[in-house]
Amino acid sequence: MVLAKTDNWVLQGTSASPGIAIGVARITDRSRVAVVEREITPAEVAAEVARFKAALEAAKEELQSVKQQIAEQRGAEHVYVIDTHLLILQDSMLTRETVGAIEGERVNAEAALRRTLQKFKEFFAGIEDDYLRERSGDVETVIERVLRCMVGQRQQSLNDVEGKAIIVAHDLSPADVLLIDKSKVIGFVTDLGGKTSHSAILARALEIPAVVGLERATGEIDDGDVLIIDGGAGVVVVNPDQEVFRDYLKRKQHYEYQERELLKLRDLPAETTDGCRILLKGNVEFPEEIPSLKVHGAEGIGLYRTEMLFFNREELPGEEEQFAAYAAVVKAMAPQPVTIRTLDVGGDKFVADLNLADELNPALGLRAIRLSLRQPETFKPQLRAILRASALGKVRIFFPMVSGVAEIRAVKALLEEAKAELRREGLPFDEGVEIGIMIEIPSAVIIADLLAREVDFFSVGTNDLIQYSLAIDRTNEHLSHLYEPLHPAVLRSLKMVVDAAHAAGIDACMCGEMAGEAEYLPILLGLGFDELSMNAISLLRVKKILRRCSRHEAEKLVARALGFPTATEVESFLKGEIVAHYAESFD
Ligand code: PEP
Ligand code: MG
Repeated sequence: MVLAKTDNWVLQGTSASPGIAIGVARITDRSRVAVVEREITPAEVAAEVARFKAALEAAKEELQSVKQQIAEQRGAEHVYVIDTHLLILQDSMLTRETVGAIEGERVNAEAALRRTLQKFKEFFAGIEDDYLRERSGDVETVIERVLRCMVGQRQQSLNDVEGKAIIVAHDLSPADVLLIDKSKVIGFVTDLGGKTSHSAILARALEIPAVVGLERATGEIDDGDVLIIDGGAGVVVVNPDQEVFRDYLKRKQHYEYQERELLKLRDLPAETTDGCRILLKGNVEFPEEIPSLKVHGAEGIGLYRTEMLFFNREELPGEEEQFAAYAAVVKAMAPQPVTIRTLDVGGDKFVADLNLADELNPALGLRAIRLSLRQPETFKPQLRAILRASALGKVRIFFPMVSGVAEIRAVKALLEEAKAELRREGLPFDEGVEIGIMIEIPSAVIIADLLAREVDFFSVGTNDLIQYSLAIDRTNEHLSHLYEPLHPAVLRSLKMVVDAAHAAGIDACMCGEMAGEAEYLPILLGLGFDELSMNAISLLRVKKILRRCSRHEAEKLVARALGFPTATEVESFLKGEIVAHYAESFD
């Protein structure tokens, strides 16, 4: 590679997908369609509405052909994202608002559509949850497509490049990412986007190194610049000098070597040196994450978050739509088990149609299972849909934010009603379907022994359990230093939960982020967890360490860890142990 310029600029963005790519920048114009606003006469209204509707149709046809292309190139499980875009296209608010602006405000169709987009954006901007807020990007992508159809602008394919390129774009749509030919495009960087934007999720699923949210990448990088992207660190180096270039080349080789080595573990058992088997499963929100779980050897899905089905729409999904979605995931994962979590909204996760009240303290408000129990007309169809999916493969159901026995009994009563209905209607389901609860509230920890008599398994949601145990808002960046997974109160809670589960003869699982942090594995193993569920990329890293640990040694380590009074002391003890016993597993 010729290093003509050596600026060595370092741009810091958000890590979207790990891996190191070194290549030549290709600026790709994915900028917004320029719209000129024009007042129209009453006589022009009908023609503008017709132009808008024709563009909607054209966009639909385009999306359908993209869907077919994706199905052929990537497989049917990846078309889901395009289906979401097709649904957005059919959204009644999109049509109503745009036609309303043409007719009421007398503006041309392009300007009317831009106003609709603005309204959607204002709606999304108020949402705290990163994941939900970033769905606004999906709406924008769809509206830009309609606008392009309206003005007759065609989009250049990302794969129209010479040699191996790194795409630099203002933003990329999920379809762009899905259609990337990895022999031509080796990575991408964008101005917009966050860790949970759809394109980032897909980049991880397809293992394309990517950095997003750089804000000014398209302004600061020139076509032809040499780029290094370190996707894991969220760093982009522009025109590196020889030294930096060589350094990253080495890191890239090391990273790729490690990945190859890790993949060799894929089919080996997740077993300690003293023969203790732990189930390692994956967390998913989208069906398109499933192929990556399989590549990384997941033994099932330990947490399928169903929120995304409920989001981004005016009307809630009915039983049939939910059944189709759950059935697709269960079939894609079969014969391995899928653990489906019922709706966990409220708090910082917002859904339009659920009439969620403005709460002063949403994290302690009407959320998750409390909301489901308050609205059986929404909850029952979800239970029925999950039960019906259980006829198609191994399914377990679990419930978020359970605080006590009365709640789980109420849930079980509703579940029994749903089962009785299905029996009456002759619709099949697994009579032995297992049920579990998420342990994420301190009250559930304290009465874990009582709860264990009610269910078939526990799954600890550490993201919330830590937040509620330590009274640390998990979304408040000013408090992040106090968010301590190794806090003695958290460790004692985890021990109480595992001990109560085992005393009752049920499984203790964990599906919070802590489960995928490889350095915590010796602790989780020593505490006695039976199952850990995590993102796809963590699976083999955790398995590698697991296969070098002994349960017996890990139990001794936990006994000592539990004796320290502060998280800092637990952490330095754990680091010392890792250096002494497991250092080579963490290279
Ligand atoms: C958790 O709280 O740890 C969890 C897995 O649930 P969520 O992150 O969806 O709240
Ligand atoms: Mg949670």
